[in-house]
Amino acid sequence: MGLIRSWVAGANRPEGPFPLNNLPCGVFSTEGTAPRCGVAIGDHVLDVAAVEASGHLPLPGDPYFTAPAWNALMAAGPSVWAELRARLTALLAEGADPTAVISHLVPLAGTRLHLPFRIAEFTDFYAGRHHAENVGTMFRGAEQALPPNWLHIPIGYNGRASSVVVSGTPFRRPWGQIKGPGDSAPRFAPSACFDIELELGAIVGTPSQGPVTVAEAEAMIFGYVLLNDWSARDIQAWEYQPLGPFQSKATATTISPWIVTSAALQPFRIPAPPRELPLLPHLRDPGPLHHDIALEVALTPANGRETVISRTNARQLYYSAAQQLAHHSTSGCPMTTGDLLGSGTISGPTKDSRGSLLELSWGGADPIAVDGCIRSFLEDGDTVVLRGECLGDGYRVGFGECNGTVLPALENPFHGINCAAEV
Ligand code: CA
Repeated sequence: MGLIRSWVAGANRPEGPFPLNNLPCGVFSTEGTAPRCGVAIGDHVLDVAAVEASGHLPLPGDPYFTAPAWNALMAAGPSVWAELRARLTALLAEGADPTAVISHLVPLAGTRLHLPFRIAEFTDFYAGRHHAENVGTMFRGAEQALPPNWLHIPIGYNGRASSVVVSGTPFRRPWGQIKGPGDSAPRFAPSACFDIELELGAIVGTPSQGPVTVAEAEAMIFGYVLLNDWSARDIQAWEYQPLGPFQSKATATTISPWIVTSAALQPFRIPAPPRELPLLPHLRDPGPLHHDIALEVALTPANGRETVISRTNARQLYYSAAQQLAHHSTSGCPMTTGDLLGSGTISGPTKDSRGSLLELSWGGADPIAVDGCIRSFLEDGDTVVLRGECLGDGYRVGFGECNGTVLPALENPFHGINCAAEV
């Protein structure tokens, strides 16, 4: 498929992230106006809430856009998603009469973007093989790099929805309990090993009750965002055994502001990587459910210049989001509209394709160069930007930026309690 041409300014530029092929879903506001649902097209946002209210977007079961979140539409299921996409495409395609919607186009440059959906729950997986092997090698040695279950199930844990924030939301370096390998006792201190995790987030649209197959799970996924799962490695190393990460991952998880729909990613489907061991039948791939999405991570120190520190691709994931979701449901766990599934860190096979600083600096043993400085982990004031795009024939499907800046830790989080270790 080539570029679908549009009459909207900027939508036909081959390097632009938001052609008519994309139509990503967000929530936006302008100075003095309330947040509402919109889709990005070229250099503009189409105010779909206003278009719906004007009667030019009739859909079965509507209205869907009376609240500033995409959940109502997400819950309606694939046939309504397809009808919305078809109607928007017809309204915005080259040759269509612009008069119905042109007054509801808002220049992107003047908008503020908000969380695009109400996040029901957040589950974080560990589906990137190179990441799992790198981290396992660092912590357990090369012989036991992959946990014994890794080639059989997509490992995950239940995270926090309450700390998922939209791109651009500032947050502070966390405090936590830390005990280094040479320490005789734990202490309570700001994390000194604060890190990023380059991930893809899958968003559940239609809910489920009881176990679902991989194919059914695929049909439930409304779309995807870029996701940076900020991680305090020193807190993680002390707390994670035996139940996994807890406070180390709870400070913030940043997502990009536009949901790129499963439909927009359809042309970029690719088969799963070769299976080293056969998966049990209920987790097998029913078709090509992985995606070819080029990804990069850029780091900018305070008052510094940007350095791209990693380039990789979503094809490096071993398990698809549909497999993660199917596995999540096997116990009978109901899945909910607005559930967010993090893929786990997406690292490639080479050093410059690793998706976390833990891996890029090999636990601090081999720091990387960033704008004349060196980095093992994040410093205060560092800004990290994730970017992702699919390259089509004469067009791109972009995700928009997922960025966050690390602010300094609070001086004392407990209002006067002495946080220093007692000697
Ligand atoms: Ca993670």
